[in-house]
Amino acid sequence: MHNQLQEKFRLSVLSLIGVVSVLGITPFVFIRYFQGNTLAAIVDLVLILGIVTLVGYAVRTKKTRVVSWIVAVFINVGVFAIVLINGVDSFLWIYPAIASTFFLVRPIEAIVINIILTISCVFFSNIFELISLVSFVITILIVSVNTYVYASRSEKQFRLLESLNIVDELTGALNRRAFSSDIEQALSIAERKNTPYMLAILDLDHFKMVNDKYGHAVGDQVLKDLVTITTDNTRKYDRFYRFGGEEFVLLVPDIKKHQAFIQNLRAAIKKELKTPDGKEVTVSFGVASWLPGATADSWLKSADDALYRAKANGRDCAVFID
Ligand code: GH3
Ligand code: MG
Ligand code: MG
Repeated sequence: MHNQLQEKFRLSVLSLIGVVSVLGITPFVFIRYFQGNTLAAIVDLVLILGIVTLVGYAVRTKKTRVVSWIVAVFINVGVFAIVLINGVDSFLWIYPAIASTFFLVRPIEAIVINIILTISCVFFSNIFELISLVSFVITILIVSVNTYVYASRSEKQFRLLESLNIVDELTGALNRRAFSSDIEQALSIAERKNTPYMLAILDLDHFKMVNDKYGHAVGDQVLKDLVTITTDNTRKYDRFYRFGGEEFVLLVPDIKKHQAFIQNLRAAIKKELKTPDGKEVTVSFGVASWLPGATADSWLKSADDALYRAKANGRDCAVFID
């Protein structure tokens, strides 16, 4: 499941850092040039062009994770070069570079990059003839620790938000929103690589009777048990979604023996899914293999037609449409 919120967040952070860096560095291209410091002006210009190109690439390709990494390394190397060239005149740039790194890569990765930048400055630049090494190290530490704490917390909150966004609260299965985004991804992979994908709609049989006879709480437990049993009997890359009510969707990539796969799952559910007094609860399956040219709607419609036939055939069975 791809992490949409995180991706959007990273893209907006990348764009913001891009805009701020370009606005902040541009005046220095001119200042350094008119001061006669052509080398520093060129490094500033390379930084601006590099950041703009990388951010543009991320916006186009959505490869935010790898681009964020490259931008982080690029900014740190650029600042190190500027400190080497301009000395103490430019050492304040280390602080925004350190803070930005935490917004671009994972907190622990940012710590490593920042340690490398700090050690490189300590060993290779001559700024400590003028500024206090102890003050430098302590202020860098304070900025790093504070930003690390903030970045780690926000990473945790993002994970929580992401799971709230894509997981069904009652059963822990993925929700319909996750399905809408995953099916588009599946369609494009199937189309590009001609991968044999399969989509199955599962609907509990006579579930209303379960609720009526045992109560809503037992009905809820049966839904949760179905998710556990299905997860235990499918593979790591198969995805199980609650589509609504007592209807679920299984999206299975790269499957050849799809009939055997579904019949095994159906048998496992029939054996394990029980009411508190041991009565079996069965499931009907409508299964449709991916066909070239399918859309999300047409694929779902095929599986739904198959499910309708499974119900009409007396339930507790699977109908396949190839
Ligand atoms: P069929 O075999 O034709 O599918 O019959 P059915 O009784 O399963 O289907 P029907 O659509 O008539 O009833 C679905 C029931 O699912 C009715 C509704 O109360 C129940 N249901 C939907 N969502 C939930 C839920 O979150 N918890 C519980 N306990 N029941 C739910
Ligand atoms: Mg039902
Ligand atoms: Mg139903």
